[in-house]
Amino acid sequence: MIIERIWAANDYRNFHYLIACEETGEALAVDPLEWRKCLDAASARGLTVTQILNTHEHLDHTGGNAGLVGATGAKVLAHAGAAARIGGVDRGLAKGDVIRIGRTVELECLDTPGHTMAHVCLLAHGDSPALFCGDTLFNAGAGNCHHGGAPERLYETFVDQLARLPDTTRVFPGHEYLARNLAFTLDREPGNREAATMLERDGQRAPAEAVVTTLGEEKRINAFFRLQSPELIARLRERFPDLPERPDAKTVFVKLRELRNKW
Ligand SMILES: [Zn+2]
Ligand SMILES: [Zn+2]
Repeated sequence: MIIERIWAANDYRNFHYLIACEETGEALAVDPLEWRKCLDAASARGLTVTQILNTHEHLDHTGGNAGLVGATGAKVLAHAGAAARIGGVDRGLAKGDVIRIGRTVELECLDTPGHTMAHVCLLAHGDSPALFCGDTLFNAGAGNCHHGGAPERLYETFVDQLARLPDTTRVFPGHEYLARNLAFTLDREPGNREAATMLERDGQRAPAEAVVTTLGEEKRINAFFRLQSPELIARLRERFPDLPERPDAKTVFVKLRELRNKW
């Protein structure tokens, strides 16, 4: 499986991806807002874009569909619940659907509500698993929920789905927010040495050279996976004095999300 990450170099800080079959050169483009950059990247590697996948309905993920379809005739795939809002969707997706690319690539569709209620992540199984997670999970962070989402549902997606994937799973999100998110984690957990080390080592990298984290790392450096951390809970209770001494994990997650909205 070929994974080509494309830095959009726009104000939204999008990452686009080409996922391609090494044998046939067929490629699926994930959220190709800057579609010309995706087309150039495909040409440079001898790949042919035959499918477009929108992780969700927001325009910063779907705005390149028409251009890329016009240039390639690619089929558009998206969550069945988002298809009407996106328009021009050829294949509506549901949990467990398999997306095939060429002869060698199979991706599993995960139904991952929270950022919006019709959001999919793509999971590549195998020796080197990979997760294409749109605006659900970011490096060291989580998607916001104020454009059609719900933090309680995002919590369930994190705990019931993402946290159960192999620790070796590589994380390929829809935007580059690593340094800012690590700073948020460190503001919650000043004693998180791995987050501090990563911020120092990787925080100043050019976005096109951004580090690819694994889920194992995310569980250690992402506040939204660290819902049991005593330090995080103690600092959260300073901000939200009504929180009980031992808040449940969902409450911690929702309060973290609320805090991050203003932070
Ligand atoms: Zn979004
Ligand atoms: Zn986005």
